[in-house]
Amino acid sequence: MGIISLASGNSCWRGLDYYKSKKVTKLNKINENEYLSVVKGTKNYNVHLDIEHPRKCTCDCPLANGKRIICKHIVATYFSAIPEEATNFEEEQIRLQEEFEKEQENEYNEVIKCLNKMSKQELIGEIIQVFDYGPEWIYNDFVKRNLY
Ligand SMILES: [Zn+2]
Repeated sequence: MGIISLASGNSCWRGLDYYKSKKVTKLNKINENEYLSVVKGTKNYNVHLDIEHPRKCTCDCPLANGKRIICKHIVATYFSAIPEEATNFEEEQIRLQEEFEKEQENEYNEVIKCLNKMSKQELIGEIIQVFDYGPEWIYNDFVKRNLY
């Protein structure tokens, strides 16, 4: 498992932000897979990055200190050490977002197709079901907009 897959989505995004705002200082390469850095945050935090063994990464911030957590400081250090990974991460997120939007659009179009095929009576039946099983605000909103 890589650094990114072990980090939470929040740590990844905040880490990217830290990387871009150049909060990673004193980046020091120990060997092919290990780096040391100081990341500017509320305080300065010391990061030890181990790309080959992500579980061995450490950071002395309150979230990660003494725990095996990949925090935003570790992610930011990782992106600073290997900038291509920051680009990959961003491109992957954009791709996922586009995929999601495309899926939603397809679904929406399918629904429209179905609705167009239905009779008025069938449509009323479907809407009543939405009122019965859906959240109450749908019904309340409909009443407010149409009855008064
Ligand atoms: Zn940290």
